[in-house]
Amino acid sequence: MNCALITGASRGIGRAIALRLAMDHQLYILVNYSSNLEAAEQTLQQIREQGGDGELLPFKVQYKQEVDQALDAWKANNPDKHIHVLVNNAGVTRDGLFMWMPESDWDEVMDVSTKGLFNVTQNAIQQMLRKRIGRIVNVASVSGMKGVAGQTNYSAAKGAIISATKALAQEVAKRKITVNAVAPGFITSDMTKELNEQELKQMIPMNRFGQAEEVAHLVSFLVSEKAAYITGEVININGGIYS
Ligand code: NAP
Repeated sequence: MNCALITGASRGIGRAIALRLAMDHQLYILVNYSSNLEAAEQTLQQIREQGGDGELLPFKVQYKQEVDQALDAWKANNPDKHIHVLVNNAGVTRDGLFMWMPESDWDEVMDVSTKGLFNVTQNAIQQMLRKRIGRIVNVASVSGMKGVAGQTNYSAAKGAIISATKALAQEVAKRKITVNAVAPGFITSDMTKELNEQELKQMIPMNRFGQAEEVAHLVSFLVSEKAAYITGEVININGGIYS
């Protein structure tokens, strides 16, 4: 059975991607999350309500041992299932001006994004390499494309994800594994709920924040058979804020 592992699928963009991939591609969804069990259970319930299925797979992406333990145990218990799609979506922000940024804010944002990508991808890609098929989508950000003041840590982390996407895509293309990134602008979610949408939307040509479901449709296309020849790409989804 083909599965999709989505990191940070308990809320926001990750949840929308989980629901969309279950619906569009009949994938069995591995709902990863960090600590919010209640929200993760809601994601799973919604997947089941729309006729799909999956299970919860909690781990903090930045800790290699935790990731390997969870994924290796899951693989051992599920020899009939394999991870066909990986969406590296988990991410955090710790915004602040660089000159006053605590080292811990730099480390946490970099670790969740970049160590997270390394840990989860290195484990999950082994089955894809053996089966000679797979889809990896990394969730970057407009911050990683253009750099955003007050987000030097987050811009660096997302920029690294974009470069890693391009490099890994070249390594695994022969095995029919595609590796792409999406770079959302402002999307309505818990991550952006403190932002002043009324003010910020004035600098967005579409004059609104995007919806998590809109990002999910893009990811759904990238994991589809129709997107088999697209790899190493970064696709902006930002209402025209940066193109
Ligand atoms: P969100 O609403 O804050 O949700 C974050 C998700 O990531 C939650 O499911 C959370 O799990 C999980 N998570 C956080 N740290 C984790 C860790 N160490 N290990 C595993 N899971 C972890 O964020 P969002 O807005 O949906 O953002 C999702 C992705 O899109 C992030 O990579 C973000 O950088 C990117 N993005 C967002 C926007 C935007 O405007 N919202 C724009 C561009 C890019 P718990 O529920 O357990 O905490």
